[in-house]
Amino acid sequence: MTFAKPFASTLTATSNLEAGLTDLAANLVGRLVTPADTDYDELRAIPNLGYDRRPAAIVRVEATRDISEAVNFARTYGIGLGVRGGGHSIAGFSAVEGGIIVDMRTFKGVIIDPIARVGRVQGGATTADIMIPAHEVGLALSTGDTKTVGVGGLTNGGGIGWMVRKHGLAIDNLLKATVVLADGSVVTASPTENSDLFWGIRGGSGNLGIVAEFEFQLAAVREIYGGGLVLPATAEVLRGIVDQISDAPEDLTVIAFVMQGPPAPFIPESWLGRPVAMLGICWTGEQAEGERIVGQLRDLAEPIADLTGVMPYPALYQLTEPAEVPHLNVVRQFFSDELSDEALEAVVEAIANATGPMSMVQIRNYGGAVARVPGDETAFANRDAKLFVSQLALWLDPTDDVEKHRDWATRLYNAMRPAETKGAYSNFVAADEQRISEIWPGETYDRLVALKRRYDPTNLFRFNQNIKP
Ligand SMILES: Cc1cc2nc3c(=O)[nH]c(=O)nc-3n(C[C@H](O)[C@H](O)[C@H](O)COP(=O)(O)OP(=O)(O)OC[C@H]3O[C@@H](n4cnc5c(N)ncnc54)[C@H](O)[C@@H]3O)c2cc1C
Repeated sequence: MTFAKPFASTLTATSNLEAGLTDLAANLVGRLVTPADTDYDELRAIPNLGYDRRPAAIVRVEATRDISEAVNFARTYGIGLGVRGGGHSIAGFSAVEGGIIVDMRTFKGVIIDPIARVGRVQGGATTADIMIPAHEVGLALSTGDTKTVGVGGLTNGGGIGWMVRKHGLAIDNLLKATVVLADGSVVTASPTENSDLFWGIRGGSGNLGIVAEFEFQLAAVREIYGGGLVLPATAEVLRGIVDQISDAPEDLTVIAFVMQGPPAPFIPESWLGRPVAMLGICWTGEQAEGERIVGQLRDLAEPIADLTGVMPYPALYQLTEPAEVPHLNVVRQFFSDELSDEALEAVVEAIANATGPMSMVQIRNYGGAVARVPGDETAFANRDAKLFVSQLALWLDPTDDVEKHRDWATRLYNAMRPAETKGAYSNFVAADEQRISEIWPGETYDRLVALKRRYDPTNLFRFNQNIKP
């Protein structure tokens, strides 16, 4: 694993982009990919099929200095700079037409210190890249629900995952980061070094720099009690689920995927295409108590399928494997303390009439450890809601009519949204929405603007939920 060192660029501007790219290629430890390369199309593609963009070049990062070189190049030539970790950006931010892509997928080393329970993770690692070696020594990072999602994008925006109520957001477990700034320099951000930057990268969604390396505190979690429980999605059952998970002990994190019964081996044929609530359950506490708590969910209706039990923590990620497949999406979302009966009735009706068989509503319980961190301690202020709710139109065919999916997701969002929400989550904001003031309310936004002016005054890092300097 390469350790970050301060790096001074030798790059000088020429008027010729092509000549500049030749110089850039020569300065890299990794590889520069241009449209002339045979693997250009393969490497520019992202799993979000809604964004078929052609960058001028792709920097395959092998060392922190490659990130600095790319940053210096984009700044010098005034071209767009995209950052790609897992490539799962819902708004397609990691594909930039005509720009330069910092492709971190070749920069994903992980070192686990089992004694200190610390994981050092390079900026291009995915959830799987940290999960597997951590699990081998009985540890786990509180991160997202899908293993191909990048730690980079997920953590910069916050990171809401299977253990969020017990172990907080991914950023709540961040001890330190190595950050490449807009001037190409490399700095450490921690509670004791550049603490203002450390505040801002925890929730600032990539506005202040590119994280070359994260250092996380890991939780001592090897096995969990939980897995998948599939119940019929009637309004009454959804009411019971929402009420139970909203006030559950912190050891219980649940994601209810309300969708049409998918063609999975555990779904009986009679339930294919009918509204079901697939509960992804993660109980991190003592097993007997977990069985009791999960039993209450089980009692809400005759289960369609019950895949719960004691299992290795990584097994939970099998539930979301269908989401790893490249697809298109329109996403809507809000944090809230409540969901009304009318909202739940709207869910059942919308799922029955979804514009695609993969479309869904996700209802996650939230709060717990997240809510214990003060709202001004990081750039992630939306912490005290009981629920995080999203409406996801998902489909596979890029020639399909986007408008019908957009209409479905937007109508359902409007039907479910309470009069007062508790804000929005930057990592789930779609490209067709503007929700900056809901992501970063009041003082959080003002503080981020001040940091943006200091660390990125020319807005080099602008392909994100953008804070304007
Ligand atoms: C299938 C799926 C499941 C998801 N599940 C969850 C979930 O359970 N919990 C959750 O919180 N979110 C979830 N998300 C949202 C996810 O966190 C965001 O889409 C996130 O941006 C993806 O990160 P990435 O690295 O894969 O994306 P990329 O597209 O590679 O990156 C997105 C943006 O993040 C920033 N970024 C990426 N890496 C870095 C870095 N090293 N330094 C600085 N900035 C960087 C850049 O602005 C970049 O443009 C999910 C998304 C999808 C598509």
